[in-house]
Amino acid sequence: CEMHVMLLSCLALVLLMPGPGFTAPTFIPEEYLQQYYNLKAEPLGRMKRSGSSFTSKVKDMQIFFGLNVSGVLDTETLEVMNSPRCGVPDVDEYSHIQGTRWNKNVITYSIGRYTRDLPRSTVDSLIESAFSVWARASSLTFVKSRTHNADIMVEFVTYGHGDFYPFDGPRGTLAHAFGPGLGIGGDTHFDDDEHWTAGETGFNLFVVAAHEFGHALGLKHSRNPDSLMYPTYKSSRSGNLLSREDVANINALYSKTSCRINAPLM
Ligand SMILES: [Zn+2]
Ligand SMILES: [Zn+2]
Repeated sequence: CEMHVMLLSCLALVLLMPGPGFTAPTFIPEEYLQQYYNLKAEPLGRMKRSGSSFTSKVKDMQIFFGLNVSGVLDTETLEVMNSPRCGVPDVDEYSHIQGTRWNKNVITYSIGRYTRDLPRSTVDSLIESAFSVWARASSLTFVKSRTHNADIMVEFVTYGHGDFYPFDGPRGTLAHAFGPGLGIGGDTHFDDDEHWTAGETGFNLFVVAAHEFGHALGLKHSRNPDSLMYPTYKSSRSGNLLSREDVANINALYSKTSCRINAPLM
């Protein structure tokens, strides 16, 4: 059995070694599973990759991404783990802290700290376009405000930034957002160590912002790769940003009937 464990860790090590044309991963599988799949850290900081909790979390992740469910860190699994992605977990964790939806249909937003990657006016228009994606698909309206207590505060920050979810430098986690609620609820943070662009190079701010605003409105991650709420970043998204599933999910939260039931709105 110990031999088996050793073989597995050797295999993992070999897979993690950077080969030709393969950039060194910026992640540690244990940390990935802790962050996105609620793997509990061991008291002494030691974790066996063959342990039952580790294996079951690898399986959860493989099920989510539609991979071969082996519980082992194979190439395909490591490749997905190494993909730039959203910082929000793929399994429920926020639901007990945050509400599920805003109890109003007019939502305010404000941009606090800007990135230097793009002119301010470009950031303004990309953020506005990202909100429009959801406004077009639902009964929601987004109003830009100049105050610091808007429902959704948009900030470009790096590493530790005061919310217990530090960013990680280039790649890895690109951004995260809090679900609807008071205070930090709805707030959306972008990792300013990424190269934000309006085009195909670096990370497209419009696409990432539209995804994050889905969380700020109460949506969770989707297993459907065609959905905007899929957790990993896709550079080329043409045509409709929202899948039928995205549209159905936002309307399940903010349908015209449900806003009549939940009066008063503001
Ligand atoms: Zn996300
Ligand atoms: Zn944050």
